[in-house]
Amino acid sequence: MHLRLTDEQKMVQQTIRKFVEKELIPLENDVLRNEREGKPSLSKEKQEELVLKAKNAGFWGINTPEEYGGADLGQMMQAIVAMEVSKTFVPFQFGGSADNILYYGNEEQKKKYLIPTINGDKKSCFAMTEPGAGSDTQNIKMTAVKDGSEWVLNGEKTFITGGNEADFVMVIAITDKEIHQKTKGREGVTCFIADRDMGWDSEYIHTMGEWGPASLFFENVRIPKENILGELHKGYNLGLEWIGFARWIVGARAVGTAERLLQMAINYSKERETFGKPISERQAIQWQIADSAVEIEAARWLVLNAAFTLDQGEDNRHLASIAKLYGANMGTRVVDRVMQIHGGMGYTRELPIERWYREARLWRIYDGTDEIQRVIISRNLLKGHVKLGQYV
Ligand SMILES: Cc1cc2nc3c(=O)[nH]c(=O)nc-3n(C[C@H](O)[C@H](O)[C@H](O)COP(=O)(O)OP(=O)(O)OC[C@H]3O[C@@H](n4cnc5c(N)ncnc54)[C@H](O)[C@@H]3O)c2cc1C
Repeated sequence: MHLRLTDEQKMVQQTIRKFVEKELIPLENDVLRNEREGKPSLSKEKQEELVLKAKNAGFWGINTPEEYGGADLGQMMQAIVAMEVSKTFVPFQFGGSADNILYYGNEEQKKKYLIPTINGDKKSCFAMTEPGAGSDTQNIKMTAVKDGSEWVLNGEKTFITGGNEADFVMVIAITDKEIHQKTKGREGVTCFIADRDMGWDSEYIHTMGEWGPASLFFENVRIPKENILGELHKGYNLGLEWIGFARWIVGARAVGTAERLLQMAINYSKERETFGKPISERQAIQWQIADSAVEIEAARWLVLNAAFTLDQGEDNRHLASIAKLYGANMGTRVVDRVMQIHGGMGYTRELPIERWYREARLWRIYDGTDEIQRVIISRNLLKGHVKLGQYV
């Protein structure tokens, strides 16, 4: 057992860190200003410039298989990169990747959807959630009815990330009501790839954060049978795979963000004086710093273990739920303490803390809420699927 990053991992961590410090953090004031004025956080030209720089630095397709032009660096690297990039709120992601479930496509689908997504020529989104079915994904109502060589989709999806910008959606719909009922929603549903120009509409949802997901509306949208992703009636597991993939990465994001915020609080506490001395000399402040540091370290190891386990080809779902639950809660606690340490300034829009405060709250809701992670973790233990201390 070796609890340190490898030289290669350290090198990637340092390179990404420099990229974030040199290219992204200097844009933070512009992003805050743009958002205050209701403009896009970053202009299209700036986004394109950053993409080019990331490509030139070799950070493109970090986790994409080499046969698709990626670097295929594995999940540990993915975790390390996510932690570094999350040290800024500038909305930039190292691209060159595609949704995990698109790799289940046949050759034709890979050509039409997977490769253009990796290359950044097409934008995707994934739609499972509906107004009446969030945590209980088995309860979806959207239907797909066969008509000749096409399927006709009707229903509504909601809270779909990227749903306003996407060129196509991977959408889950009921294709056999009887099987769906008999299997309590686990079968009888299918994943379809639906191009926007096949006729679905989207509507922006305003949220507490600086970006919004979308509602998607399907009214007699006709989809050719060639656009079924994976197997007919077996789309539910694809959906769970999509949701599960990003789960532990939420924890990684929380670690990166919390680390940056805590550093801000440490710096500020040494500068800010009250009653004749810096607030860093007050035990009340020191304890908030200490508690935050402890929780960040705990979350970091949970995330790295979830990533490492996946890299070993093992099932990491239990660890992913633990890393997501703890990481998301740690992140919201740390941002709250950091705001407290900054006093009134923390509450203003002069500093980015309130922005992070709003953004971090989402971590406890999407990709499975706190409560659903607890349901999963306790079920695994109560049913004996996982033993305590199994993953060391
Ligand atoms: C910004 C954003 C982006 C999103 N992106 C996507 C996306 O790209 N694609 C997609 O398909 N979905 C997406 N979602 C949907 C997201 O996954 C759901 O919001 C989430 O799963 C919760 O579902 P819900 O909102 O319907 O809450 P509900 O399921 O209605 O839950 C309400 C409350 O009840 C609790 N609860 C529910 N069931 C139980 C239970 N059995 N035991 C105890 N407590 C329970 C929940 O934890 C929650 O506190 C997104 C959501 C948001 C907010």
